[in-house]
Amino acid sequence: RERAREILERAEDRDDNRLGVEAMELLDAYGVPTPEGDVVDSPKAAESVAEGIDGPVVMKIVSPDILHKSDIGGVKVGVETEDVYDAYEDLVTRAHNYQPDASITGVQVQEMADLDAGTETIVGLNRDPQFGPMVLFGLGGIFVEVLEDTTVKIAPISEPEATEMIDDIQAAPLLRGARGRTPADLDAVVETLQRLSQLATDFPAILELDVNPLVAGPDGVQAIDLRLTVD
Ligand code: ADP
Ligand code: MG
Repeated sequence: RERAREILERAEDRDDNRLGVEAMELLDAYGVPTPEGDVVDSPKAAESVAEGIDGPVVMKIVSPDILHKSDIGGVKVGVETEDVYDAYEDLVTRAHNYQPDASITGVQVQEMADLDAGTETIVGLNRDPQFGPMVLFGLGGIFVEVLEDTTVKIAPISEPEATEMIDDIQAAPLLRGARGRTPADLDAVVETLQRLSQLATDFPAILELDVNPLVAGPDGVQAIDLRLTVD
């Protein structure tokens, strides 16, 4: 909780109230698993992060002015270490081409998540004027906008409430292992929903937060993207 407070206070000190993957530590502080990785501001530094990660990496542009990174070609998946230097420069060029005055924090270099074994879900937090902090759960990734398969509860939520949220969505059978799919680790999903609902409850300064996707795999979950707005 203290670590989370420090991260949020640092954010409030800046004049920008939108944060992205550079705030992933917030999730770590609340015990939500994230892939190994870091945000860096030079191609050399990106290379050294990639050297510390086994196998190819994912690289993402980090900018408060770019909300949907993949829309502008700002996410590169499966980058080999020897290509990391050039990939960094290419990501920055793409961001400049998209919006010449975009402020660029840097590039995130992240361990690859196994999307084949898992399901992309979304966890969202926001604040309702009447009910206060709310937590949202649903199918994530590119499906979230298209299928709108989501459910909402008032935070903080209990374990049975979190389980209910999972069963509320139409994709629940997918997570439970329908049609020979490997079932997702639902205990980990429940725990994550509870932890994030607690985060919303503890910090009224968080106006909005999205983890999209939260990859729900057979052996736990991984939060691979984050976006939030602070007061
Ligand atoms: P944005 O939502 O801003 O476009 P994301 O970080 O969510 O950026 O990345 C977009 C998509 O790229 C994800 O939904 C996922 O399919 C894929 N992706 C991102 N990070 C990883 C990762 N670490 N491992 C595997 N796939 C990833
Ligand atoms: Mg995303």
